[in-house]
Amino acid sequence: MAGQFLVDEFMNGVAARNPGEKEFHQAVKEVAESVEPVLKKHPEYFKARVLDRIVEPERQIMFRVPWVDDRGEVQLNRGFRVEFNSAIGPYKGGLRFHPSVYLGIIKFLGFEQIFKNSLTGLPMGGGKGGSDFNPKGKSDNEVMRFCQSFMFELFRHIGPNTDVPAGDIGVGGREIGYMYGAYKKITNRFESVLTGKGINWGGSLARPEATGYGAVYFTEEMLKTRKDSFKGKTVVISGSGNVAQYAVQKATQLGGKVVTLSDSDGFIYDPSGITGDKWKFIMELKNVKRGRIKEYADKFKVEYHDGQRPWSIPCQIALPCATQNEIDINDAKKLVDNGCFAVAEGANMPSTPEAVEHFIANNVLFGPAKAANAGGVATSGLEMCQNHIGISWPFEEVDRQLHQIMVNIHKNSWDAAEKYGSKGNLVVGANIAGFVKVADSMLDQGVI
Ligand code: NDP
Repeated sequence: MAGQFLVDEFMNGVAARNPGEKEFHQAVKEVAESVEPVLKKHPEYFKARVLDRIVEPERQIMFRVPWVDDRGEVQLNRGFRVEFNSAIGPYKGGLRFHPSVYLGIIKFLGFEQIFKNSLTGLPMGGGKGGSDFNPKGKSDNEVMRFCQSFMFELFRHIGPNTDVPAGDIGVGGREIGYMYGAYKKITNRFESVLTGKGINWGGSLARPEATGYGAVYFTEEMLKTRKDSFKGKTVVISGSGNVAQYAVQKATQLGGKVVTLSDSDGFIYDPSGITGDKWKFIMELKNVKRGRIKEYADKFKVEYHDGQRPWSIPCQIALPCATQNEIDINDAKKLVDNGCFAVAEGANMPSTPEAVEHFIANNVLFGPAKAANAGGVATSGLEMCQNHIGISWPFEEVDRQLHQIMVNIHKNSWDAAEKYGSKGNLVVGANIAGFVKVADSMLDQGVI
C-alpha cells in the first residue's frame, strides 16, 4: 500500500467503522499517536496494515442473558465477549458487570488488553467481556442465577487454550466461583478456563493482591528514577474495590500514608491514614457486607464528601483505582497545583487525554494503565501456568515474580520511549513496547 500513516485519517476510519464507541476511539487514538514514529521507521508494518488489523477484533460475541430474580420475575441483560487479538497467545482479559457496559466499553478494554498482556512478557492475547448487569443490591442467589445464565452461552466460546476470562469491576471471587461452577457442570471439565479462582480450586496466591500491589511496585520504579520512594508521602487513592484495597495495603507497607478512598457515591478523607483496623474495616465493608464508603466516615469520624472525587486533597502521589475518565483536566490541574508529582493508573484509562497531557507537560511521573495495572493479568498468567503444571507456588514466590514483571515493564517502557525520541514518556513507551511484539508476531503469522 502506498502512502504514509496519518493519525487523523486513520482515526476518521476508526470512528466511521465503530460509530458511537467513544471510549474505544479514545483508547485507539492514544496508541495510534504513540506508534506513529514506529510505523514511519518500519514501513513493513504499514504495508501489512498491521494497525488497521489490530483495531478490528478477531471476533465479537453479543448474547442474551435471561435470569429469574428472587420475586420470580424474568430479567434480561446483554452479554459480551470481544476476542480481540490472539497473535501472542490465547485471548485473556476480564469480565466487567456494570450498568454502563456496552460494546464500546468492552472494546476499549479489550484493545488496551492486547498491549498490556504483551508488556507482561507472558504468552497472552487480548480480550474482554462482561454485561450491563448490576450486581449491586442483588442477593447472592440472584448473582448466582445471572452468572449461570451468562456461562450457558459463554462456555462455547472459551477454553484453556482459546480464551481465559477473569474478573474486573463487579466481578470478584464470588462471581468467578459461580461462573466456574457453571462451566464445569456444562462441560464436565475441570480446567484452567477462568483466573481469579478460589485458592482451594486452582486459584493463585497473591492474585487478589496483584493489581494493587503491581501498581504500587510500578510507582516505586517511577519514583526511583528521581531517587525517591513512598516513604513519608501522602497518597490519594480512588475506588475501594479490589485494586484500591491492595494498593492501600502495599503503599502503606512501603511507608506512604493513604488518606482517601471512594466509591460511586463519594469519598472519605482520613488525614491520619487508612491503616491497620481501618483497612480491615474497608475489606469487610466492601467484600463481605457490600456496604457504602460513607460508613467508614461514620465509624471513624472523618470527612465524607458526597458525590465528589478525591483529587482536591493535597498529595504527592495519586493512584486512580476506580474507573475510566475519573480524572479530567480540572482534576489534573488541582493535583499538580497541590504538589502531586507521581500518578499511576490502577484503573483502566482513568485519566482523560487532556489530563494525561497536563501531567506530562508538568513533569509529573505518569504510569499509564496498560503498564501500571498489568500486575493483575500477569498474575493471572502465573495462575494459568501453575494450573498447567499442576502445582501451587507459595505467596512469596508469586509476589516475587509479580514484582520482577513490574520492574521489567517499567524498564521496557522507559527504553522504548527513549529509543523513539520521547524519553521519560511512559505512555508512548508502553504503547510502543506492547505494540512491537504483537505487530512482529502478526507479520510472522501472515495475513489472517
Ligand atoms: P471493583 O468492582 O472491585 O471496584 C470498583 C471500584 O470503583 C468500586 O469502589 C466502585 O464503586 C468504583 N467505581 C466503579 N465505577 C465507578 C464510577 N462510574 N464512578 C465512580 N466510582 C466507580 O473493581 P476493581 O477494583 O477490580 O477494578 C477497578 C479498576 O481497575 C477498573 O478500571 C478495572 O478495569 C481496573 N483493573 C482491574 C483489575 C483487577 O485485577 N481487578 C486488573 C486491571 C485493571 P461502587 O462500588 O460504588 O460502584
